[in-house]
Amino acid sequence: MSQLQRIAIAPSQLQQQQISLTKEQQHYLGRVLRLREGDRFIAMDGKGKSWLAQLAGEQAQVLELLTVETELIVSITLMMALPKGNGFDEIVRSCTELGVTCIAPVLSDRTLLHPSPQKLERWRRIAAEAAEQSERSFVPTILEPVTFSTGLSSVIGDLSLVNSQQYICVARGEFPHLKDCLHHKGQETIVIATGPEGGWTKQEVENAIAVGFQPVSLGRRILRAVTAPVVALSLITAACEV
Ligand code: SAM
Repeated sequence: MSQLQRIAIAPSQLQQQQISLTKEQQHYLGRVLRLREGDRFIAMDGKGKSWLAQLAGEQAQVLELLTVETELIVSITLMMALPKGNGFDEIVRSCTELGVTCIAPVLSDRTLLHPSPQKLERWRRIAAEAAEQSERSFVPTILEPVTFSTGLSSVIGDLSLVNSQQYICVARGEFPHLKDCLHHKGQETIVIATGPEGGWTKQEVENAIAVGFQPVSLGRRILRAVTAPVVALSLITAACEV
């Protein structure tokens, strides 16, 4: 089963064991992957369900529901201050591969990039492709960019009912290492915030602490804004993978 190609479908495409394929999916399966009538592939709804499917013209027939066990037991939200250029594309790709659940791009006081509305569609497409590639059953949610203070309030509002840990990565200062703070007890939510090229302002760190974030270090070297989330996600997955 592992060699079969995967594609993400919208839940509405599946009706009575038939998947109606979009023109793009037909092109991708037929022209790019060179699948033919009767060939099998895996369809995933990006919300935890995957099916073995068989190509039949413009549709695919569902053969069986699959059990996919590639997800982490914890839910991880990455709040990342948008980096310059296209750096966020690679963050979405790598962090999806590492198992992130939700990515919340934020505009901090020192953020240099103000993204166009098309960027969000692009990031969502990259997340779906990376989830297919890394054989996940969930496609991470990519939220609309908001200011860091709005992001703090909405994340904290959403977390009020769940068991959660919140960390803000701060490049300078005497803070405990993230690896020594993670306490994995079972199903929970971890929120991790990483800053822009110029770092968080003192006020931003104080605001995060005021709503329950713990400042943490990722080691003694200063990492680039695009490296820090990958290191943080790797430490979390290493601590929580079962
Ligand atoms: N210009 C800042 C300075 O000189 O202090 C460094 C900012 S760093 C390039 C970008 C972001 O990555 C930081 O805001 C922080 O969130 C994260 N980061 C980088 N290195 C880190 C470290 N060693 N520990 C914790 N966070 C780090």
